[in-house]
Amino acid sequence: GSHVSSYEAVLVRLEKQFSLGQEQLQRLVRHLVKQFRHGLSSDDHILKMVPTYVTELPSGKEQGSFMALDVGGSNFRVCEFILEGNGVVRSNQRKYVISDVLKNSPVETLFDFFAECVETFLVEIKAKGSDYPMPTELGFTFSFPVHQTALDAGTLVQWNKGFTCPGAIGQDVTQLLRDAFTRRNIVMNVTALVNDTTGTLMAHAYTNPETYVAVILGTGTNAAYVEKLSHVPKCVLAGDGGPATPEYMIINTEWGAYDEETVLPITSYDQTLDRNSTNPKSQILEKMMSGMYLGEIVRLVIVDLISTGHLFHGVSLPALAVPFSFETANLSRIERDHAIDLSDTRTVLETLYKASNTTLQDRQIVKLVCELVGKRSARLAAAGIAAVVTKMNRFNGCTVAIDGSLFEHYPHYANRMQDTLREILGIAAENIVLEQSRDGSGKGAAIIAAVHSLKK
Ligand code: ADP
Repeated sequence: GSHVSSYEAVLVRLEKQFSLGQEQLQRLVRHLVKQFRHGLSSDDHILKMVPTYVTELPSGKEQGSFMALDVGGSNFRVCEFILEGNGVVRSNQRKYVISDVLKNSPVETLFDFFAECVETFLVEIKAKGSDYPMPTELGFTFSFPVHQTALDAGTLVQWNKGFTCPGAIGQDVTQLLRDAFTRRNIVMNVTALVNDTTGTLMAHAYTNPETYVAVILGTGTNAAYVEKLSHVPKCVLAGDGGPATPEYMIINTEWGAYDEETVLPITSYDQTLDRNSTNPKSQILEKMMSGMYLGEIVRLVIVDLISTGHLFHGVSLPALAVPFSFETANLSRIERDHAIDLSDTRTVLETLYKASNTTLQDRQIVKLVCELVGKRSARLAAAGIAAVVTKMNRFNGCTVAIDGSLFEHYPHYANRMQDTLREILGIAAENIVLEQSRDGSGKGAAIIAAVHSLKK
């Protein structure tokens, strides 16, 4: 009767809102490539296309012990990476918690803590003994907005993730680290300042030399790739033009900022999410794609479908009224539910969110919503990769290193990406290999320190 058709109408509408057809994908790729070019030419564009000053990929033959320091959020890791020269890397790692007090202390206090941890760590590995000399070069992964000016220099633009340490903004963070090392008489060269996406690319390239792209699909999303330096007009290196001028540089796209509304399938739910976010009107692609937001988009759709009476007989769920109460891991779980009565979806809805007596139709609708949101994310990621490969003109073979929970744990995600690449690029998509990569940020920093110090 009229009920059934109104359901159908709603589902058709949702499908239409979240879908990215063949033609729209092509337009998105073309527009992304154009934005990559703009970002490479000057700094006042939506895509920052950040020069990383990493101008060499590893050969896999680099050997020795190198340090990495990884400051990302509440945790801080000190690592030793031993490169064996055959693509194999061994590591020693220690993880420390950065207390809330430290996060708000003067920046020297924070960096003194880093130096203290490094000192303890060095004593430990020295006591343990090794076939390799003690490390003297360090790669510093510092995942905050920095303005990088050289491989080993960059100033902090602003704090985030709960850090407010006074005295840091505008300072060169590698110099802050060197000064802290000096105060403790630690002899260690801070060779490279590294962003996690670049680290992932370098770490993967050490074992797989066909790697020219890295993508993060976790809490946030980003991509880095190998670009011809002659295609980066905004970046002029010292001694440019001489015989030793490098040919390539890794570029950190910061693609999560992409926001072209005439090309992206932005729904009213995306608009609501953005309006209520802590950073409205920024990181629009990231908000449609990354792990931090997929659950919230689904929640907004479910709440809307309840209010129109299309779900749960129109009975609202207090547990779902709270922003970010629907975790992205639930999408994974529901998409993995292939039982004929969707029994695990029932468990999620009835146990976690206290829905009473869901009907099979309720559960089918919720599953469809998860599928639409998850699929759109994977298709956007594939379009981004297609754009990068197109920009590089590397259709005859390219490995993409991918790190993050979405790619690793979300069912069908990798397949949907591969299918979408095929839709966009045709047969050439067969030459694009998507590979899981893990913990590249620290390892990659050590490898960059290795590549760039062994060259000297
Ligand atoms: P990070 O990017 O912070 O280094 P991850 O790659 O683990 O770490 O990404 C964390 C994000 O992945 C969170 O937003 C979380 O909601 C999401 N997530 C965690 N587990 C899963 C899962 N099983 N399926 C899909 N998303 C998940």
